[in-house]
Amino acid sequence: MDEGIKTKKASREVLGSSGQRVTGQRALLLDILHRSGEHLDADELYRRARRRQPRLSLSTVYRNLQLFKKLGLVNEHHFAGEHHHYEVKSAVEHQHLLCLGCGKIVEFYCPMSRQFKEKIGREHGFKITGVEVRMVGLCSSCRNQKVAK
Ligand SMILES: [Zn+2]
Ligand SMILES: [Zn+2]
Repeated sequence: MDEGIKTKKASREVLGSSGQRVTGQRALLLDILHRSGEHLDADELYRRARRRQPRLSLSTVYRNLQLFKKLGLVNEHHFAGEHHHYEVKSAVEHQHLLCLGCGKIVEFYCPMSRQFKEKIGREHGFKITGVEVRMVGLCSSCRNQKVAK
């Protein structure tokens, strides 16, 4: 069962035990992802990381995000637009609401997804390892703006 990766220390251990070096840059990127608790795209991660390591390049950020993804440290989401958002894998599976007006992302827990997983997995002979539910709509402030216009 996928329990997710809870702590920064655990992420570093995963890196270390996969034979990847825990470089300063990798540690910094993981640190930012862990601290923010948000869904950051590569550009935003790059912007924040550069404040602490001005010589970091965007391609390094991309490369490391792919590595983190491969090692199961982060989840990659495709919410909207051209780019992906990344977040640290949390212990509890959660789902996302996306506001089409302002791009806000809200997380919610979907207790049904566990039942779905089992039922649908059984029906199709799949071992389901993850469920992604993405709901789109307008958040309350975007809805209020619409009314005001
Ligand atoms: Zn909104
Ligand atoms: Zn999330």
